[in-house]
Amino acid sequence: MSSDKKMSLTVKVLLGMVLGIIVGLVINLTGLNAPGSFINEYIVNGLFHVVGKMFVNSLKMLVVPLVFFSLICGVCGIGDIRMLGRVGGKSFALYMLTTAIAIATAIVIAVAFGIGKGMNVATNAEFVGKESPPLTQVLIDIIPTNPINAMANGDMLPIIFFSILLGISILMVGKKAKGIIAGAEVANEIMMKMVTIVMSVAPYAVFALIAKAVATLGLDLLQSLAGYVGVLVGSLMFHLFITLMIILKVFSGLSPAMFLKKIRNVQVFAFSTASSNATIPVTMRTVTERFGVNNSVASFTVPFGATINMDGTAIMQGVATVFIANVYNVELGISGYLTVILMSVLASIGTAGVPGVGLIMLSMVFTQVGLPVEGIGLILGVDRLMDMIRTAVNVSGDATVSTIVAKSEGKMDIGVYNDPDAGILDTDEALELDESFEKEIADTIEKVRNQ
Ligand code: ASP
Repeated sequence: MSSDKKMSLTVKVLLGMVLGIIVGLVINLTGLNAPGSFINEYIVNGLFHVVGKMFVNSLKMLVVPLVFFSLICGVCGIGDIRMLGRVGGKSFALYMLTTAIAIATAIVIAVAFGIGKGMNVATNAEFVGKESPPLTQVLIDIIPTNPINAMANGDMLPIIFFSILLGISILMVGKKAKGIIAGAEVANEIMMKMVTIVMSVAPYAVFALIAKAVATLGLDLLQSLAGYVGVLVGSLMFHLFITLMIILKVFSGLSPAMFLKKIRNVQVFAFSTASSNATIPVTMRTVTERFGVNNSVASFTVPFGATINMDGTAIMQGVATVFIANVYNVELGISGYLTVILMSVLASIGTAGVPGVGLIMLSMVFTQVGLPVEGIGLILGVDRLMDMIRTAVNVSGDATVSTIVAKSEGKMDIGVYNDPDAGILDTDEALELDESFEKEIADTIEKVRNQ
């Protein structure tokens, strides 16, 4: 199988993204997206909307069973149950540390640029703050009163808790439970196949998602908020390419260039869905099959990170706080900024990685430091695009920490990590049916029928 052929899905997805941006821009700039127009009704909010939403739904459909089965396999295959505590502790510490560094750098950069000073932005957009759950409730809610309910709602922390406890109990039951472990292994493999099937339509779906987002973006707003957008995007890129890569190199010794090359696919999925949670299947596949992280680590660190780790979101909060404080002429001072850092880190624990959640966290931060929550209305118009970019940074943080933790626990295949072609998805090959098995099953069914 040639490497060219293996590259095809990644290239197609990137192509879908570029074409989506071009088509979206054309629709936006030519005014074809006017409300009531044919293009707006039937193409942007019709075809693109439906295709994009169907794809995001299919990704979300995979998340709960994938996390459930892979965590059971991960816990049972860990070999040393004490490692679980270490993996939990290390990943939690690293997730909090990277988030705190992210927001601190963002505040420094935004203050240095003095964004929003002397600015007078008129806005009609209203923002009504929503509550983010208090930390005590977050802790209580880690334990589900009903695991089925947690799964039905896609609540990640209780699902993780229940699956780990189930895995440990299976190990305690011992030999009698061997069949269950084997079953979970097969179920996990089947879920991974489903990820492959869904990913095979990604190029078209990514096109639709991005074309719709760009077509409906307020590009004129982008201009009037150029200072905010520029500093925010700059801080996000700084974190992704400099901070995270230094952390990766220092803690694991692995090549940042290889990391950046292989993480691209995950970033495109995160960018187009604006949801770390919906990207879990793709992050999980990439981290295990392209980076060589053992499932016993990835099955925990990836869904855990999607929930509690939000470097990009924290950066947005840092930049937005400085921006709004300057626009409203509020002096926050060192203690105000320290409160912002603390609040953002804590808020990231209790909120899930879904689109737009960053704004909810922001309103909580604003209330805490006494900034007007309505001020968020100023940045509302550009937030959808910013959400897409920061989600790509969020998932890159999840993958960085997963890699570092796996390397430190000796649960990493360095050969896979360093092989540029490892785990590249060749959908033509991966989606082939096992014909001999198909025939065997058909024969068996036929036999049963004739009995
Ligand atoms: N959309 C982000 C995520 O899923 C969260 C946010 O910043 O709103 O990670």
